[in-house]
Formats: sequence, C-alpha cells, structure tokens
Amino acid sequence: MKTPVPDYLDEVLDSLRADTGGANADYIPELAEADPERFGMALTTTLGRTYAAGDADTEFSIQSISKPFAYAAAVIDRGLDRVLDAVGVEPSGEAFNELSLEGGTHRPMNPMINAGAITTHALLVGPDAGQDDRVDRAVAFFSRLAGRDLQIDERVCASELASAHRNLAIAHMLRTYGILDRDVPSVVEGYTRQCSILVSVRDLSVMAATLATGGIQPVTGERVMAPDIAQHVMAVMAAAGMYDAAGDWLTRVGIPAKSGVAGGIVGVLPDLVGIGTFSPRLDSHGNSRRGRLVFERLSRDMGMHLFSSA
Ligand code: GLU
Repeated sequence: MKTPVPDYLDEVLDSLRADTGGANADYIPELAEADPERFGMALTTTLGRTYAAGDADTEFSIQSISKPFAYAAAVIDRGLDRVLDAVGVEPSGEAFNELSLEGGTHRPMNPMINAGAITTHALLVGPDAGQDDRVDRAVAFFSRLAGRDLQIDERVCASELASAHRNLAIAHMLRTYGILDRDVPSVVEGYTRQCSILVSVRDLSVMAATLATGGIQPVTGERVMAPDIAQHVMAVMAAAGMYDAAGDWLTRVGIPAKSGVAGGIVGVLPDLVGIGTFSPRLDSHGNSRRGRLVFERLSRDMGMHLFSSA
C-alpha cells in the first residue's frame, strides 16, 4: 500500500529534524531571536488541496520570498517592457545583497537580488505612487495569492530598518544611475515593509500553486495574473531564485524556488504543485538548510525534478 501524503510529509520532517547545521540570520536582530527548531512544510496542488506537516501555521516574515510575487505585481501594474527597462533577468551568481549592476545598462541583473527587488518595489502601482500605495499594493496582492488577509510584522520591520545600511547603499547607487527616480529612504522603507509581511508555509504553498496554475488562485478560483506573467515569474525564479546557489539548486533539486532569510523557501512545479517550507537555520548561501534538504527529498522521492524523465 502507498504511504498517505500526510504520513509521508511527517516522515520527511522527522528524518531531517536532527540536522542542526547552519545558523539563523543575524544581520536582522529579530530573526536571530527566532526559535531555530521550528520546522514545517506544506504542499498545495493546482486543484487547491493542501497537505501540511510540522509547524504549518507558524508565521514568519516572507523576506526575499516577496520578490517573485512583487515582481509579478510590478509586471501587472507597469507592463513587462517597462519592468525590463529597469531590471534584467540574468542570473547574477552573486549573493543577495551584492552591490552590482549590469554593465552598460546599469540595470540590476535580476529581480531576485536586493538591487533588483528594491527597483521592482519602486515600480509598483504607477509613477506617482507613494510609499503607502506601494506597500498596500504588496500586502493586498500577496493576500489575494494566499487567500487570506496578511499582516506586516512591525517588530521585524523596525529591526531591519535600524540597520538597513547596505540596502540604502544599494538604493543610493541605483539613484545615481537613474534606475531609481524617487526618494531613496522611502523606497527602502517600503521594500523592507514588503519583506516583513507575515506568512506560513501553508500560505506560501497556496501562493506558489497560484503560479503553478498559470495565475488562478486554486482555492478561491480568482484569476490573479495572466498565464504569461506566471510563466515569466517561474522562469526568473528558476534562473536566479537561489542566489549564488541557483545553478546547484536547479541541477540537484530542479524545482524553481525562492528563499528568504527568515528561513522560508517557496517552490513551484508548473501545472502540479506549490511548496512551502520553513526552518530558520541558513546555509552559507543564505538558504534554509533543512528547507533545502526537504526539497532534495521531494525531488528525489516524488520525481519532482523539472527535467526528470522518470
Ligand atoms: N529583507 C532582506 C534584505 O533585504 C531580505 C533578504 C533575503 O531574504 O534574502 O536584506
């Protein structure tokens, strides 16, 4: 007899619980304080059925996992051509917070590194939008994707803002090259608020499943984005979602994914499933260590590698 999915997910978490490698992110003081033992995962199919295990309803800040979803919103709001004028789609092979821009155009290499994500956040809504408009857009859009009202963790946000020197430096550099044309502190604050939106792995799996369906939220049935935008976002995640480990991830795991420094990872298999994992300890690339191990197991056991011919 086949193992039922919930039992299988419990078994996956139990088999990896003893792994205590890596460490919580410490450059944001609130994240350093998070309980490192938290461990959860959820899968949502394109038919809207969710399977969850472990700390499936524990909330944590979305952090960089906000980037693909904010990118989708920016493409909806401004059109792909306008967004591509400002941000490229090439893997940078660099760390998430690198101060690098594409030669010639001075665009950030892609929307998954901070330079690109800060630029993407600034594009939200329209040219005259203020900080509150952009943040409200992100919260409302992510809430439609998750199918419930999401909130901002003000403590995490304040904690990150108190030491946001690097993101401010990146944004000032973008302003120098005319990639950003607005008030730098307000853009960085808005981006940091976007990163502080609270989600659970259950939410992440539903948000990802909305990409997997080609833009229809599988639980509410609402069309949230056009199929070509979902396709574009998944492709950018595959190319650049895992920072300087993107190539290793794509070959070993083969599931387009995005990680966040709070310990979340979201993954998506087109036409099949959205996946969310949470475990705060990070590896040297800034990706959740146990989260990565869960994805490796799923890829192997369930033939989830994008290029699997099994
Ligand atoms: N808010 C974080 C930052 O911009 C997100 C980084 C991440 O999750 O990788 O530094």
